[in-house]
Amino acid sequence: MKSVRFVLIAILVMAFLSGCAPASEPVKIEPVEEASAVQPTPVPVPTHSPTPAPVQAPPTPIPSPTPTPTPEGMMMIADGFTLQPIPEDVKQRMQDKSYPDDCTVPYDDLRYLRVLHVGFDGEVHDGELVVNVQIAEDILHIMKALYEEKYPIEKMVLIDDYDANDEASMTDNNSSAFCYRVVKGTGTLSNHALGLAIDINPLYNPYVNGDRVEPEAARIHTDRSQDNPYYIHRDDLCYKLFTQYGFTWGGDWNGYKDYQHFDLRD
Ligand SMILES: [Zn+2]
Repeated sequence: MKSVRFVLIAILVMAFLSGCAPASEPVKIEPVEEASAVQPTPVPVPTHSPTPAPVQAPPTPIPSPTPTPTPEGMMMIADGFTLQPIPEDVKQRMQDKSYPDDCTVPYDDLRYLRVLHVGFDGEVHDGELVVNVQIAEDILHIMKALYEEKYPIEKMVLIDDYDANDEASMTDNNSSAFCYRVVKGTGTLSNHALGLAIDINPLYNPYVNGDRVEPEAARIHTDRSQDNPYYIHRDDLCYKLFTQYGFTWGGDWNGYKDYQHFDLRD
C-alpha cells in the first residue's frame, strides 16, 4: 500500500511541475540572419572533362571575284608592263612569219612583252614586243620610262601583223623588235633575228645608206637637221635611256645610219 501511495504522489508532483511551467514566458526567437549571408550550397565541381562545345559549321565565305590566272613565268613591273614566255597564240601568229621554219632561235630564248605607250594622238595605247630574254626586263623598264615621260610612239604591234614584211611595218611607223631575218643586202643575221634589236618610230627615223632609204616613204626624213618631235637624236630621251642600258644607236654608226635602231652588241 505504501508503494501505491508513493507512485500516486510522484504522479501528482510531476503533474504539478509540468502544469506550473509559466505559459507566459516569452519565446526566444533566434535572430534570422540576412539572406545574403546564407551560404549557398556550393555547386559541385565536375570532376570529368567538360563537354566540348559543339563544333559550329564555319561561316559561309563571301564569294570573291575569280582572280585572273597569271600565266606561268609572267613578270609585271607595273600595271600594263609585263613579260612572259611566248604564249601559244602568239607563237601561232609568229609561225612562218617572223619565226620561219629554219629559225635557229628557240622560243625559250624569247619573251613576249606588253607595254603601254603614248601615241602621236596623246592617248595611251597597248603595245606588244617580242625580244630576247637577255634584254626583256631592260626593255620593259625603258618602255615604262618612255611612257611615264609621255614619249610619243605611234604604234607597237608584232611585225607578224604585216606578214613580217619590214618595209610594210616601217611605212606604217610600227615599232618592233624580233624578226628572224638577215641584215638588208647581206647574208648575215640581223640582231633583230636574235631579238636583241628594236626599231622605234621607223617612218621618222629611217635607215639611210647612201642613196638607199628604208622605208622609202621616209626619204623626206633623211635631213636630220629638221625640227621634228619624232626624230631620234642624241638629246632625245629614247637615245638617253637605251644607251644608259648599254644599247648602241644606229644613228651613231659610221658609213650608214639606222636612226630607228637600238641593239645590244657584245
Ligand atoms: Zn633595226
